[in-house]
Amino acid sequence: MKLSHLALLATVCGAFAACTQNADESAGAHGADLILSNARVYTLGWRDPREDGRLAAGAPHDEGGWHPDAQAVVIRGGEIAYVGTTREALAFRGDATRVVDLAGATVIPGLVDSHTHVFELGAALQRVNLIGVETEAEAIARVVERARSVPAGEWILGHGWDEGAWANHYPDKAALSQAVPEHPVFLASLHGFAGWANQRALDVAGITAATAVPSGGEIRRGADGEPNGLFLNRAVPVIAAAVPPPSPEALAEQLLAGLGKMARDGYVTVHEAGLDTRQMQVLEELEAGGRLPIRVYAMISLRDEDLMRAWIAQGPDRDDDSMLVTRTVKAYYDGALGSRGARLLYDYADKPGHRGVSGGNYGFNEDLMEQAMAAGFQVAIHAIGDAGNRESLDILERIIDKYPQAAAQRHRIEHAQVLHPDDMPRFAELGVIASMEPPHAMEDKSWAEERLGPERIRGAYAWRSLREAGAALTFNADNPGSDHDIFYGLHSAITRQDKNLEPEGGWYPEQALTVDETLRAYTLWSAYAGFREDDTGKLEQGRWADVTVMDIDPFVLTEVSPDDLLNGRILMTIVNGDVVYER
Ligand SMILES: [Zn+2]
Repeated sequence: MKLSHLALLATVCGAFAACTQNADESAGAHGADLILSNARVYTLGWRDPREDGRLAAGAPHDEGGWHPDAQAVVIRGGEIAYVGTTREALAFRGDATRVVDLAGATVIPGLVDSHTHVFELGAALQRVNLIGVETEAEAIARVVERARSVPAGEWILGHGWDEGAWANHYPDKAALSQAVPEHPVFLASLHGFAGWANQRALDVAGITAATAVPSGGEIRRGADGEPNGLFLNRAVPVIAAAVPPPSPEALAEQLLAGLGKMARDGYVTVHEAGLDTRQMQVLEELEAGGRLPIRVYAMISLRDEDLMRAWIAQGPDRDDDSMLVTRTVKAYYDGALGSRGARLLYDYADKPGHRGVSGGNYGFNEDLMEQAMAAGFQVAIHAIGDAGNRESLDILERIIDKYPQAAAQRHRIEHAQVLHPDDMPRFAELGVIASMEPPHAMEDKSWAEERLGPERIRGAYAWRSLREAGAALTFNADNPGSDHDIFYGLHSAITRQDKNLEPEGGWYPEQALTVDETLRAYTLWSAYAGFREDDTGKLEQGRWADVTVMDIDPFVLTEVSPDDLLNGRILMTIVNGDVVYER
């Protein structure tokens, strides 16, 4: 690599008389863009651990535990030019090279979250945050603060005041309308069972004493008989529906806010799970303008049939240089476990006679998905229950039988949350990737066993069982429903404990993965899920310069103090050689 560059340089210089620069100038002209030095570099260049988690020969682990396998990374022209010792790396220094002494920070391949909703994440970040607010006055003060930067007449949205804690003293429109008269304001409660609006919002929505109240809902009234601005339960949509859909400009702001947050949190790529026509337009425009800070692997929504038909006609985009690649379809097969919508093979343990809902009854368009697979698309099917997963695998199997070339398209099941043991080997047989969320196991554990009972729970969130059955895994958080913080994800996957370190010893700890497996599931294996395992996922010369730097060493911490995985912080995020975040 280095040698061939030097050889090429010599040839070029030999051919042109003007080429008389000395060795130092030559280094300047051809020096690195960025050198990360004095770091604890884990390249992930060694082989995958075995299915039971045992390390592969060649992993940098000995009697002393884990140790980094390099000290420095050199970046040039968007690629990794060298990985090795600091001393060798500094030989790449030129006049324009930036050298960062990382003073023992940890460098890993760039993180990939393989199932996100960054538009929603951005929208959530833009709402006035009322989580933890204790008084009406404090909530109003936050809205007033926001109103200073929002043109009059535009909606102000907030979220998070606690309808449970406030139930004995619900707010009304009076003080809010007085403090913020010029903007329609809608403040959703923490769990969505209540909404609080000002008079301007009621006027814009056309809500008066004459407005019909849905059954199961309540529109509170004041002494004058008019709506007082508080909506409960099934009346909340009466006011929420009046909020206009975001303009293209607002959508672009949401996207940039969401991607910016992911960049700050160490991610170099997101797989965005389920995009409609308007969202795709915004993504494509930002990409054309060079404004995407990190890479986006787009999954178009099977529910947007016009968009689907247009893409099926055109075929998947495999654009190699792009920050945006669209070759995947997101399908929705069954509901969620918490609300008992996930489709089960047998009755819910806590609701006899009920097995959830799936397929056509859940709006799944099998024919359209088949057309997409025939046209070369990867499909990513949301499936939660054991029946939902079995039926999804059956459908994939049937379509692959019909179109054998579709077997190589790396189809995925999103969540793969509850599996019958008979279905686990089918992932490997069909080449289907299990796309899973370590945080979900930790957040669902308080009720998942009630839904499933003591037997089926053993096939739920079963990362180790899936690996042992030969399945390829990829990890993600399905944000913003769950926190995408990588340190939370690592801790969940490795310890099977929540943020409060509960339960002691871990929840079904036999399903935990090792640190080596978990980091791969967020890097190399996620790259595989996006057909990029030759371009990224390892720190090696010639690969994309997509790199994440953090202030803890997760390998060593896992062995000496796993609780402290939760305390990590991201220091740098580098995409295509560009530093997109630096603490
Ligand atoms: Zn999702």
